[in-house]
Amino acid sequence: MTNPRQDMTVASLILIIEDDAGLAELMAATLEEQGFTSVCSSSGREALDWLASNTPSLVILDYTLPDMTGSAFIEQMQGLGSPISFIMVTGRDDSSLAVQMMKIGACDYMLKDSAFLDRLPAVVVRALQELETRQRLQYAEQSLRQSETRLARAQKIARLGSWEWNVPTGEIYWSEELYRIFGLTPGEPSAITMEWIFDLVSPSDIAAFKKVMLAAAKNGQPFNIVYRINSLTDGEIVVNSQGEVEFDKAGRVQLVAGTTLDITARIRAESEIQQLINYDNLTGLPNRSMLHDRLRLAIAQAARDQKLVGVLLLDLDRFKGINEALGHRAGDKLLKTVAKRLSACVRESDTLARLGGDEFVAILIGVASEDGITTVAKKILGLIAEPVYIEGHEIYTSGSIGIAVYPMDGDDSHTLLKHADLAMYQAKDLDRNNFQFFSRDMNIKVLERMMLENSMRKALEREEFFLVYQPQVDVRTGQITGMEALLRWQHPDLGLLGPDKFIYLAEETGFIIPLGEWVLRTACRQNKAWQDEGLMPIRVAVNLSAKQFGQQRLDETIAAILLETWLEPQWLEVEITESAIMKNAERNASMLRKLRDMGISLSIDDFGTGYSSLSYLKHFPITRLKIDRSFVRDITTNKDDAAIAEIIIAMAQTLKLQVIAEGVETRAQMEMLSFRDCVEMQGYLFSRPVRAEEIVRLIRDGIKY
Ligand code: C2E
Ligand code: MG
Ligand code: MG
Repeated sequence: MTNPRQDMTVASLILIIEDDAGLAELMAATLEEQGFTSVCSSSGREALDWLASNTPSLVILDYTLPDMTGSAFIEQMQGLGSPISFIMVTGRDDSSLAVQMMKIGACDYMLKDSAFLDRLPAVVVRALQELETRQRLQYAEQSLRQSETRLARAQKIARLGSWEWNVPTGEIYWSEELYRIFGLTPGEPSAITMEWIFDLVSPSDIAAFKKVMLAAAKNGQPFNIVYRINSLTDGEIVVNSQGEVEFDKAGRVQLVAGTTLDITARIRAESEIQQLINYDNLTGLPNRSMLHDRLRLAIAQAARDQKLVGVLLLDLDRFKGINEALGHRAGDKLLKTVAKRLSACVRESDTLARLGGDEFVAILIGVASEDGITTVAKKILGLIAEPVYIEGHEIYTSGSIGIAVYPMDGDDSHTLLKHADLAMYQAKDLDRNNFQFFSRDMNIKVLERMMLENSMRKALEREEFFLVYQPQVDVRTGQITGMEALLRWQHPDLGLLGPDKFIYLAEETGFIIPLGEWVLRTACRQNKAWQDEGLMPIRVAVNLSAKQFGQQRLDETIAAILLETWLEPQWLEVEITESAIMKNAERNASMLRKLRDMGISLSIDDFGTGYSSLSYLKHFPITRLKIDRSFVRDITTNKDDAAIAEIIIAMAQTLKLQVIAEGVETRAQMEMLSFRDCVEMQGYLFSRPVRAEEIVRLIRDGIKY
């Protein structure tokens, strides 16, 4: 066996199997002249051995070999695996043999006549060209199949089907996935008509569906519609179809083609979200936000029909006690039972809602007189008073109902609900298990207070409070030196409330103790979180009210909060107003000392508004004086205020206290203060109080003023 030249590529390698060594050599030489490389073999066996580890592009085979026939050789060669093209050469001019050879896959058949060697190169070239074409075709088919599989797979995952509608012929093509979306076996039926599709579309959407299809076919109108279909396997499903139109040269609609996407899951998720937004999880009743929508609708309707709307607000008596005694699970069961009983008292067209906690609202529509409302209220109270059996307990509860009526007691949903709420407090005040219509004679101030107090207690659990933070800046460097935490209340009915709207009430009722503790904990936790995020550590100041400050064990509470939040004491400052300190000066001085010994800084808020004398101040371990914003406000226009500010600053210097000015709104105020050596400031000029997320940006980017 002669070796092929090493530098030739195997791609053009030709195996010559010919027992006549002279002829073989001549063939090889002829081919080499044409740029081919060949390997010669003199027997079938030898050739097969070589083929076991080599793959030539082409085999030229003598039909009569010393050890086997050409057919036998081909059979064994094909048994080796990858198909190899071959040209058969023979000494006999036998047409039946030629046909047989072509049948088993020969590219060509050559007779060893006198012109054999002359023809050989052309035959080989043609065979190789055919081979190449065949390979290309195979490759193209393979990649088409692959991309079709890929497309089908993508469509399956996306639940996306595609379709084509040949408008002139009426022929419709559907992709396999489209059949599946419709719950059908792909390809069945094979002939699809528009009429048949119309039958699948849900009756309520068929008119719209036909309209867009017609518009597409007649006017070439592209479309994008959502409609429901009756899937054979999944019941009603929702799909989105988009169609484009292709025109022929004459501008007539030729093809409408597009996609159909199964959006049932998305629609279902959206409606679940709607459910979560608008309905109460526990009872399935509409929640507060839905209630307002319904009430607005009811009012609009009643205005047209000249009817009344009754708004009944029910609050369960003693619910809190039951919840605490028997646990939340029992409490939840009770609420569910109450919801069920309430449904029995109102009509289908009325709305029943849960406001949260143990408060329910019924909106009665189409009411002609107050008597009708009274009847429902009595029925509700009667049913509520029936015992409830939960986990082996017989529970007795009762309710108080406040009633407001449109249009007498208000003409918008918020006013009506608020008045129903006030009436409810009146009812509670009179006697339990009672109802009360709103009346203008009620002592609204007292009731409003009761209402606010009540909602304030619930607000902590409902997470309606939050803190905003206002930076304190060293104006020489622009550096943020600290932050004041300020309380806000997002009230469900009254909107966003600042501390001046409710802190006084919290103080009067003692609620300031749990609320103040929440503020301390939240501010400390937030401050630690900022540090953990890698921000430069900063002091956060928390306001303490007089009542909080008067607590016996304030120091222990604060120490516990610091431990719990892992905040080091040096990053906490407490602000106490001058007047609060002066209330019980002796005791307060000792508390201040305890706090200072813990490492906390102390700041006197609203300084200048009280009457503390210099000698008094010396008794208190104070870190900082905060010049009240009333002096800052007029510092540039009012000589007295400017003088007071100057005295405070001087006093602070004498006592070696730091000083900060609050409420700085203008550059003029800033310049005036810094000229007098007060360099720390807080106010709108630098930043309004902002949410915790915003603070991160302020610290990173710096403050511009
Ligand atoms: P404060 O401690 O003197 O707080 C400064 C008040 O001035 C804040 O009002 C703040 O928003 C406002 N302010 C800041 N810069 C400017 C400015 O440039 N111009 C003007 N006009 N006002 C400015 P806010 O947040 O309404 O707080 C009012 C008061 O409520 C506070 O006065 C503080 O005494 C009390 N407070 C706030 N949060 C709490 C708290 O968590 N607990 C207690 N006990 N009291 C709090
Ligand atoms: Mg303050
Ligand atoms: Mg202040």
